[in-house]
Amino acid sequence: MSVKINLITEITKDYDVIIAGAGPVGCVIAERLASELGWKVLLLDKRHHIAGNCFDTKHESGVLIHRYGPHYFRTNKEELLNYLSRFTEWIPGNYIVKSSVGGELFPFPINLLTLRQFFKNPSLTADEASALLEEKREHIESPANSEEFVLSRVGKDMYESFYLGYTKKQWDIHPKDLAPSVCGRIPVRLNEDERYVDHKYQVTPAAGFTQMFNNMISNPNIDVMLDTDYAAIKNTLKPKFATVYTGQIDEFFDFKLGKLPWRSLEFEFKEENTEFVQPCVQINYPNEHGYTRTVEIKHVTGQQHPHTVISYEYPRAEGDPYYPIPREVNAALYDKYKILADEATEKENVYFCGRLAEYKYFNTDEVIERAFHTFNLIKNRYEH
Ligand SMILES: Cc1cc2nc3c(=O)[nH]c(=O)nc-3n(C[C@H](O)[C@H](O)[C@H](O)COP(=O)(O)OP(=O)(O)OC[C@H]3O[C@@H](n4cnc5c(N)ncnc54)[C@H](O)[C@@H]3O)c2cc1C
Repeated sequence: MSVKINLITEITKDYDVIIAGAGPVGCVIAERLASELGWKVLLLDKRHHIAGNCFDTKHESGVLIHRYGPHYFRTNKEELLNYLSRFTEWIPGNYIVKSSVGGELFPFPINLLTLRQFFKNPSLTADEASALLEEKREHIESPANSEEFVLSRVGKDMYESFYLGYTKKQWDIHPKDLAPSVCGRIPVRLNEDERYVDHKYQVTPAAGFTQMFNNMISNPNIDVMLDTDYAAIKNTLKPKFATVYTGQIDEFFDFKLGKLPWRSLEFEFKEENTEFVQPCVQINYPNEHGYTRTVEIKHVTGQQHPHTVISYEYPRAEGDPYYPIPREVNAALYDKYKILADEATEKENVYFCGRLAEYKYFNTDEVIERAFHTFNLIKNRYEH
């Protein structure tokens, strides 16, 4: 299914649209404009590859790795899956996570199996577990932060074992100072469902994400230019219709209102001379080590290889932008930039879309929906 993309190193023609960033958003909008409207698109990225943070590549050992953290694709939307299925085949998503607490591995998110193991009661039923949590949980009417949220769901022992240390390491912020939604996204189940997420479709591109996005942008109307920052061309090259910007919104405006803060990560990849090291793709370490989690992506990619690679994820204050920091002051600064962005859309036909441009954590399926939305805005504005 692999097809070539049109890689260029020099700009020699005019384009209908310029897209800054060849991540999921940039690739989807490029594909839609090129296939549906027949427009000429220039798709740029400052990195040396396409696919943004979904980029997967072969480690020097030959093992396929997810370079910017594990990507577990899931969606509830059949149309979205059908769209992506034009560019990839799928394998089932084997997304199983365990948490290392007190030297034992517990299924995570918390489910009935976790509760049986944690409370040393192998025959605990769902009803008994529900009664137990009712007894353990703190009765906080409307939790005001992540700590209160978790305490009101599972009580102090489980909060301190599974959430407190992980959250502090991940954000360098106490859960007391984070919105309830930060920890609130993680489900607690009273059944034996061990899957990491609840979505209807949990699948992985059979030949990887990079291959899927490569196939998506193989349209001859799309030229791709890598290792090129949008800032380097923005004053010299003007598109006929519109610009789509998927980079950091504050950077677009030269940080003139201040810098939006991001949490970063450092990844360390270690090859091991054995087929598998872990029992599942991800192990969380809430209470030990400098890293938050270890990932053995072979469990997900399904690759057959005599060696394996484990990635260690260290949260960092500085570095590439990975997670917007969910605090009110940051949301307020983003809102100010959004006003400038709306003006730029209106007056200069620049569209801002994606996690960096909207200062919001989106999963890949969510960001692809944002891309469809932006494509429709552009299409409706220019199609007569
Ligand atoms: C650690 C981690 C784990 C994740 N796990 C999952 C998961 O399990 N499941 C899931 O569904 N989603 C996951 N995601 C989310 C997923 O990565 C994003 O939804 C998706 O990558 C966002 O797409 P995007 O195009 O908005 O941004 P990106 O993927 O970041 O792509 C933006 C691109 O723009 C380029 N760029 C930026 N500025 C410029 C510029 N000035 N000029 C040129 N190019 C520029 C960047 O180099 C980048 O390639 C995870 C994200 C992270 C950080």
